[in-house]
Amino acid sequence: MPHRQIAGRLVIATHNPGKLAEMRDLLAPFGIDAVSAGELGLPEPDETGTTFRANARIKADAAAKATGLPAFADDSGLAVDALDGKPGIHSARWAGPDKDFRLAMNEVQTQLMKVGAKAPEKRRAHFVSALCVAWPDGHGEEFEAQVHGIVVWPPRGTLGFGYDPLFLPDGQSRTFGEMPSEEKHGLPPRGKGLSHRARAFIMLAEACLQKPRP
Ligand code: IMP
Repeated sequence: MPHRQIAGRLVIATHNPGKLAEMRDLLAPFGIDAVSAGELGLPEPDETGTTFRANARIKADAAAKATGLPAFADDSGLAVDALDGKPGIHSARWAGPDKDFRLAMNEVQTQLMKVGAKAPEKRRAHFVSALCVAWPDGHGEEFEAQVHGIVVWPPRGTLGFGYDPLFLPDGQSRTFGEMPSEEKHGLPPRGKGLSHRARAFIMLAEACLQKPRP
């Protein structure tokens, strides 16, 4: 079945300012008029799914139904191999009610120390991004991608958001927290499409967006 094309106005179904900035950057070259769920005062739905994909769908569906517009959602997180994939879909929750990611990063390190994961090869992890665009009639388009690397300690860098200072992507010398946004999620030909979100977005753009004009 052909993919449905995205055109006109789109709601970005997130209340996370870090994600919103990245999603806006990713959409900018495609001439999409994007408005955020926060700006529209939409409530945050409960993320009751058991997978990234399911939770992205819940967020996109809720915003599409509430606004009558197509809605774009990301569900993402950090999965650490030695912790059986934790924090995974609970990545946001590990930061507690104050969304304190120093707390969340400390918890990752504490749990890694408990299982004796000191050497870099025992600290493998990946970020996952599931992207969903949902329409008010119930149609949805879903894409998922990962970026692999290791968890460093102590955290490095003050850029980005969430767990960025902990994550050193394979083949790089700087953590996501040390990378300017263009380096973390810039799209080819200018950027490398390095992050999980950029990789999933490249798939979405190929399927559902008109190519940007040069
Ligand atoms: P949710 O998708 O809103 O449930 O939250 C995902 C959580 O995963 C975010 O609050 C971040 O803590 C973390 N996360 C997702 N993507 C990234 C990223 O690109 N960098 C750092 N942390 C991320």
